[in-house]
Amino acid sequence: MASRSRSNATLATERCFVGLGSNMGDRRGTLESALGALHHQPAIEITAVSSAWETSPVGPLAQADFLNAAAELRTTLEPRRLLEVLQSTEDAHGRRRRQRWGPRTLDLDLLLAGDRRLEEPGLTVPHPRLTQRRFVLEPLLEIAPDLVHPVSGERLAAVLADLAAGERVRRSGPLEAGASQL
Ligand code: ATP
Ligand code: MG
Ligand code: MG
Repeated sequence: MASRSRSNATLATERCFVGLGSNMGDRRGTLESALGALHHQPAIEITAVSSAWETSPVGPLAQADFLNAAAELRTTLEPRRLLEVLQSTEDAHGRRRRQRWGPRTLDLDLLLAGDRRLEEPGLTVPHPRLTQRRFVLEPLLEIAPDLVHPVSGERLAAVLADLAAGERVRRSGPLEAGASQL
């Protein structure tokens, strides 16, 4: 965060957004720990973190409610490399890849990487389901209310306003410990 100075200030960095989610174990502690772990990566600086948001699960499986959040980060990493860091951070927090869209200790999705549009095996940016998900858009717009979708050109605030009533989401306080560790 702002309190921490970094020597990489002169390197070309890209502004990226990551969506975080957890619905198993110590959800808040896991999100805070993941944010701390990402910020301690030499090539990543976390520059904003949303509140934690309590959200009802979406999709075919009955499962526990999620705690979701979004983080803005600056990084010198290419998106592919950033995804690898996100996945190894998931693994370090007990993520087991069993069932798609099933319960998980930690999900870290790359939502946006500057204005890039990528469609590669295993990596699509902007995240393809970003615009359908209140649990992603609410935390994302909390930290970046003016974001525009790089492909459609739509303001994400307008996209959120147009979403049909779906999953319940409510703000559930700041991610205190994570932010103070940064
Ligand atoms: P969803 O993508 O609908 O949120 P999920 O987060 O549960 O589902 P995962 O099991 O975390 O899905 O990831 C499945 C695959 O999605 C990963 O193997 C990863 O390669 C791929 N993927 C493609 N684009 C992205 C992205 N922008 N961020 C994260 N993973 C991505
Ligand atoms: Mg996901
Ligand atoms: Mg994921």
